[in-house]
Amino acid sequence: MKTLKLHNKDIYRGSLILVNKQYPIRMNIPAQNLASINGEKNSILMETRVKTILKQCMDALFCTKQIVAVSGFRSLHEQKEIYENSLMENGKEFTEKFVALPNHSEHQTGLAIDLAENRPNIDFIRPYFPYKGICQKFREKSPLFGFIERYQKSKEKITGISHEPWHFRYVGFPHSTIMTEKKLSLEEYVELLKQYPYKKQPLIYPLENCTVEISYVKAAACNETTIDIPNNTTYQISGNNMDGFIVTTWRNKSE
Ligand SMILES: [Zn+2]
Repeated sequence: MKTLKLHNKDIYRGSLILVNKQYPIRMNIPAQNLASINGEKNSILMETRVKTILKQCMDALFCTKQIVAVSGFRSLHEQKEIYENSLMENGKEFTEKFVALPNHSEHQTGLAIDLAENRPNIDFIRPYFPYKGICQKFREKSPLFGFIERYQKSKEKITGISHEPWHFRYVGFPHSTIMTEKKLSLEEYVELLKQYPYKKQPLIYPLENCTVEISYVKAAACNETTIDIPNNTTYQISGNNMDGFIVTTWRNKSE
C-alpha cells in the first residue's frame, strides 16, 4: 500500500479542476509547464502534456491543415485585456455571454483551446467550428483523447457561459468519454462523483483490458489528506478546485 499525503493547495490543480463563475483559478500554472502548440515563438500555448495529446488527436484525424487553434493559455493580464477590449467593442451583454471574467476563465488553466475551421477572417471571440465535416469529426473523436466540448447549448444555465461550439477542454480519458456518454457538463460530473466515495463505492468504467475506478475524496479540515493506493496500481489524482480530490485507478482485468 502506498500512502499519499495531499495538501489543500492540491485541490486547485489537476486536469479535472472546475473553473467557472463560482470557482475561480486559485493556482497559476507554472510557465515551464506550458508549451507552444505550433512550435513558434509567442504563439498559442497549452499545458505541455495536453499540447502533445491534442497533436495526437489532430494527427489521428489528419486535420492539422483544416483545423487551427485560435486561443489557448491566457495569463490573467491577457484575460483582463480581452475582457476589457470586448466590453468596448461588443458591449456588456455580449461580453458577459462569451468572455469569462478574469480569474474565472478556463483559458488560464492551460487545459482549454478554442479551435476554428481554417478559412479566411477567423473571429477571435467566436470562431466558426460547425457541427459538420472535419469539425464534427474532431468533436466526436476528441473524447477518446480526453477532450470535451465544454459549453454546450443545453447546459448554458449550469455552466453560466453561452453555447461555444469552438471551446474544448482537456479533462482526461475516460472522464471525457463518461461525460459525453452521460451528457454531463463538468459542473455536473464533479458533483456526481461526490456520490462515489473512495474505497467505498467507486464509479466503475470498464474498458477492453482494464477497469477504471473513479471516486471522490473530501479534503481533510487539517490541511493534510491521506489517500492509500494499493500496490501496483496505476493512478491519477486531480483536485476539483472546490473541496476535494478525484482519484482514478486502472486495474488490469486479468488480475
Ligand atoms: Zn474558449
